Amino acid sequence: FGFKGCQKIRGPQIRNLLEAKDFFLFDCDGVIWHGEKAISGAAKVVNSLIRQGKNVVFVTNNCTRPRENYVHKFYRLGFTDVMLEQIFSSSYCSALYLRDVVKVRGQVFVIGCDGLRRELQEAGIPCVEEADDPDATIYDCALAPDVKAVLVGHDDKLTFLKLAKASCYLRDPDCLFLATDNDPWHPLSGGRILPGSGSLTAALEVASGRKATVIGKPSRFMFECISSQFRGVDPAQCLMVGDRLETDMLFGSNCGLDTMLTLTGVSQIEEAQEYRNSELTTNHSLVPDYVVDTIADFLPAFEE
Ligand code: PLP
Ligand code: CA
Repeated sequence: FGFKGCQKIRGPQIRNLLEAKDFFLFDCDGVIWHGEKAISGAAKVVNSLIRQGKNVVFVTNNCTRPRENYVHKFYRLGFTDVMLEQIFSSSYCSALYLRDVVKVRGQVFVIGCDGLRRELQEAGIPCVEEADDPDATIYDCALAPDVKAVLVGHDDKLTFLKLAKASCYLRDPDCLFLATDNDPWHPLSGGRILPGSGSLTAALEVASGRKATVIGKPSRFMFECISSQFRGVDPAQCLMVGDRLETDMLFGSNCGLDTMLTLTGVSQIEEAQEYRNSELTTNHSLVPDYVVDTIADFLPAFEE
């Protein structure tokens, strides 16, 4: 392909690319759906790729649900062929990291939603139970003696007490500091935004003077999880499709994958062009190889 580097592709170029690749990694929010609404044509694209015998996986930084909730969500939105084994969320990969990489002994203190805790439980990782005492404060609350990791993710019930406890656990240099992802914020409808896990991690980094190890995109670990479960996956055969330059395109570059930006989400093509034209070569890892308006642009490639 002679058109790499932020190139808008269409028609026959998309067809050639889809034929050349056999492993597709899709980001979810902004590519496949917006919240609870599927992106028009996305289900048909995903179902067609799967029926053509392509490998398709989903790589999401959303740590708030366990994997089986995603299977239900995919089905509900018309993605009828998606199975549990195809879903790689930052919560699932965090559980694998704690279980298989650091082999954590002792309990994990979690800042996050119930879905994250559920995913850890399924991997057999004990989490500190939060006492439900609304009057407790950091001056008089109990701290667990055997906390070996603090894991931070998006938490819609965050309290000052949770941040304070996490800061205390992180005083122990043997206590690991992990973040499900480092996303700064997420778009909601009507111009509103949701602060992301990265905003909570930043608070704890300041309080502890430490840096968190990030599990989700753009870190390579999620691709290692995929490689360990799909034997013989060759980065040269992969296409990473995402909507955010700082997470998805950088993730693809970090893992040696070709990357495609879709314009249905956060990043605009102008930002990608600015990175491409930048003097700073580290910015070039954020530049997609290919750009499409939407993955629905794949649809003509499935017609005879
Ligand atoms: N984390 C949270 C809490 C979110 O709400 C979202 C998007 O809605 C994400 C992460 C990003 O998900 P993805 O990586 O699928 O774009
Ligand atoms: Ca996204």
